[in-house]
Amino acid sequence: MSTPILAETLKKIDAAMDRDRLIETAIRLIEVPSPTGDAGAVSDRLAQILHDDGFSVERPDGNHPGSPAVAARFSTDAPGLQLQFNGHLDTVHLPFVPPEVRENLITGSGASDMKGGIACAVEALRVLKESGMLTKGSVLLTAHDLHEAPWGDGRQLDSLIREGWRGDAVLIPEPLCNVLPIEGRGSATWKVRILRSGPAVHEVMRPMDEPSVIAAGAELVKRLGELGHAIGSEVNPICGSPSVFIGQIHSGEIFNQYPQECWLEGTRRWLPGDNPGRVEAEFRALLAELASDRGVTIECDWLTIRGAFHLDPQAPLVTDFQECYQLVSGHPLALGPKPFVDDGNSFWSLADVPAITHGPRAGGQHTISEWVDIDDMMRVARLYATIATHFC
Ligand SMILES: [Zn+2]
Repeated sequence: MSTPILAETLKKIDAAMDRDRLIETAIRLIEVPSPTGDAGAVSDRLAQILHDDGFSVERPDGNHPGSPAVAARFSTDAPGLQLQFNGHLDTVHLPFVPPEVRENLITGSGASDMKGGIACAVEALRVLKESGMLTKGSVLLTAHDLHEAPWGDGRQLDSLIREGWRGDAVLIPEPLCNVLPIEGRGSATWKVRILRSGPAVHEVMRPMDEPSVIAAGAELVKRLGELGHAIGSEVNPICGSPSVFIGQIHSGEIFNQYPQECWLEGTRRWLPGDNPGRVEAEFRALLAELASDRGVTIECDWLTIRGAFHLDPQAPLVTDFQECYQLVSGHPLALGPKPFVDDGNSFWSLADVPAITHGPRAGGQHTISEWVDIDDMMRVARLYATIATHFC
């Protein structure tokens, strides 16, 4: 599509945009508490909003029947591609903060992460329907629970993707707007328990043939340091290096008791192209070797949060995004890393579907002081609608 035609499209999209409706949608989502795992009520609310707007809404449960997901489709009669708007409705487990509008900001639980973004996607869908500017293909909007770790691990979205609830490309209105992310590391959390067999005893009574779990823990710190050094030599120019990180280590009760357990907890991150199964196997092999060298038992809980993320900068979605972004904002968006893992990682690593994370200017995510910028929500809604007319 040429730029003059695109500019004409944008004019018609602007005429259909409704700022008050966008704000009201965000408020109606934020006012329903939805801690991860328990987002059923807000999913019902979103389904009702979309239904009232005349969209056909489905509720695939994605193996999480307590909070079925929301899926709404707007289709034209002409064949074409399907663009998906996707996001999560759950919020981190913090005290609930009700919504409030303060000048150009909406505050409250999930305002930033990411009910403000979902409201933008809903507004874009309405605008496409009312303006008649989507002439081919379709747009699918999906919203789900179980996103935020450690209470969720993306399982509901993974099920939806595997069941076919996916478009030819995806836009995700998470609060990231200063770069167009094209590479991101995958991540897992781990918790290791190092155990000896005997009971806790006074140190002078300790059985001399039983190993020290603290010494084994120290040895694990050393070996993970060596692993980190070795894997850190691999560098991705966009998203950096693989890493292994220790966030906590604990052992012992008092100064002269011989402890039974030492536990450590941390993360492991890897680059696009690596395999989560291989990364986990390497970590477990290191633990097995240490257990055998030190005569201790080692247990490990490993939780893969999301696979890595890659987006081909030549993909049609990126070209379309940049052309529309340029029209809306006056310049293309710089390519860069994705500092966190999100649903885009799942779309790419499970189904090879290109995904762009781009949402309104917002802050305070994972705190009780979330906010989202209303002017920028309008920008994102019109950008999403414009990209759909271009891509589909
Ligand atoms: Zn989020």
